[in-house]
Amino acid sequence: MSEQVSEIAELLHALSHRRLMARGKRGAQIVVVGGGVIGCAVARHLAAAGADVVVMERGTPGAEASSAAAGMLSPLAETAGPGPFLDLLRQARTAFPAFAQMLSAETGIEVGYRDRGTLMLALTAADEAELDERYRWQSAAGLEVERLSAAEALRLEPNLNPEVRWALRFPGDHQVENRHLSRALWAAAARAGAHFRLGAEVIRLSCEGSRVAGVELFGGETVEAETVVVAGGSWAGRMAGLPRPLPVFPVHGQLLAVEALPPVFAHVVDSPRCYLVPRADGRLIAGA
Ligand SMILES: Cc1cc2nc3c(=O)[nH]c(=O)nc-3n(C[C@H](O)[C@H](O)[C@H](O)COP(=O)(O)OP(=O)(O)OC[C@H]3O[C@@H](n4cnc5c(N)ncnc54)[C@H](O)[C@@H]3O)c2cc1C
Repeated sequence: MSEQVSEIAELLHALSHRRLMARGKRGAQIVVVGGGVIGCAVARHLAAAGADVVVMERGTPGAEASSAAAGMLSPLAETAGPGPFLDLLRQARTAFPAFAQMLSAETGIEVGYRDRGTLMLALTAADEAELDERYRWQSAAGLEVERLSAAEALRLEPNLNPEVRWALRFPGDHQVENRHLSRALWAAAARAGAHFRLGAEVIRLSCEGSRVAGVELFGGETVEAETVVVAGGSWAGRMAGLPRPLPVFPVHGQLLAVEALPPVFAHVVDSPRCYLVPRADGRLIAGA
């Protein structure tokens, strides 16, 4: 997996380099469609490497899923089995503390990285079966997972439902304040030299032959680009002109934030049905 991550890094580097070479000749640029955490992170990286980057954002950067999310960095609680996806999530999680520090140094925005771990509760027989299976494959793979009795879980988190049967603890599953992360990535990308066009909705990729040539905006304007990065989140597949359908679709979720002072939990508390994420400012995010 580390080779795959390196390949992505090399690809980003190659894109930046190609842009630098082309910039003098044609004034072409990289267009990033979407200013969520993904688009801003890509824009920051490319702009910092010297590329000429424009982020097209139809609304406000970071205002969609990136702000709505609960900010859990939960490779072990969220994946159904071992494989490249889990490896990628674990590597990303491992890199996160340094990334958070770097963003804070670049922008002065603290992204609220917290490493208190995650508890997953078994409250029903069905939960027990699911957690048993999770514990089986994760411990067999040598991953960081602990099985706690009800008494041990309640000792760690006295405000848990006392009917908890037992729990798993993932000490390496952490969280970030995703609204701050979104702002920090926007600021870091802009600081690195990426340009943001707000209110610019891309409706179509324009191509010349088999190569992308730019984007068409709502209203008719076209913008040339040698490279287009599609980072439109759950809307990514809706753009016309994509060379092939993107298998991206929205999944419904609900979040509720309440003020819980003094804080009721230190860990993120998860279950097969819903989760509770305690924030440093006293908010408790409940999500399903
Ligand atoms: C309720 C909820 C809870 C979640 N909880 C977690 C969690 O705990 N942990 C976790 O890791 N993930 C979580 N996620 C998922 C996470 O939020 C997303 O994976 C992540 O934010 C995706 O970032 P993005 O930049 O791809 O998308 P977005 O943040 O949605 O950004 C896409 C941007 O593209 C713009 N855009 C789209 N189409 C166009 C266009 N044609 N032209 C111009 N602009 C366009 C949009 O306006 C938007 O700003 C959660 C998501 C939700 C909804």
